[in-house]
Amino acid sequence: MRLILLGPPGAGKGTQATRLVEKYGIPQLSTGDMLRAAVTAATPIGLKAKAVMESGALVSDDIVVGIIDERLDQPDAKKGFILDGFPRTVAQAEALDVLLARKGLKLDAAIELKVNAEKLVSRIVNRAVEAKAAGRPVRKDDDPEVFKTRLAAYFRDTAAVTPHYAAKGALHEVDGMAPIAEVAAAIDAALAKVK
Ligand code: AMP
Repeated sequence: MRLILLGPPGAGKGTQATRLVEKYGIPQLSTGDMLRAAVTAATPIGLKAKAVMESGALVSDDIVVGIIDERLDQPDAKKGFILDGFPRTVAQAEALDVLLARKGLKLDAAIELKVNAEKLVSRIVNRAVEAKAAGRPVRKDDDPEVFKTRLAAYFRDTAAVTPHYAAKGALHEVDGMAPIAEVAAAIDAALAKVK
């Protein structure tokens, strides 16, 4: 199963990806996680990406496409994968088409978690408040102001990615504001039609 999870930050892509990883035994490929690991390890990519990520803006297409290109060649991705947080621009989606074709791979589905932007901001603000109260670290980019920048980047750059997959007949829309179990059931129903 080769999937793309689309939707703004905070929509629950990570939560659903974790469940799909178990269900299908395929890895979750999150460019955000990979970039954070690169920042922590202070690799050349991490050093370039750090400030951009902290501001809530997008890292350059070349960097993330390069990361995904290499990651798809790892043995654990041979059975399939879930792309989470990628592609985030139409240029990334087009680059992904090219590299999947080059690798002889076909995408099964793109699932979009649709959300209400205002409710999403309050969800993230609560998440940050709860994490702080519990003494857990809050991601710098989950700070409410930075989060708003990330959300704006989503609607400016990434919202245009969904029509790319709709045009291929691969897009499945799911209500991302529903309770987690309902979102999961809706995703399963969509995927049941695919395979
Ligand atoms: P995420 O964990 O997916 O919300 O990503 C955190 C941050 O990493 C984003 O705000 C961007 O700065 C960067 N990032 C992750 N994925 C991408 C991508 N596909 N294209 C550009 N920047 C990305």
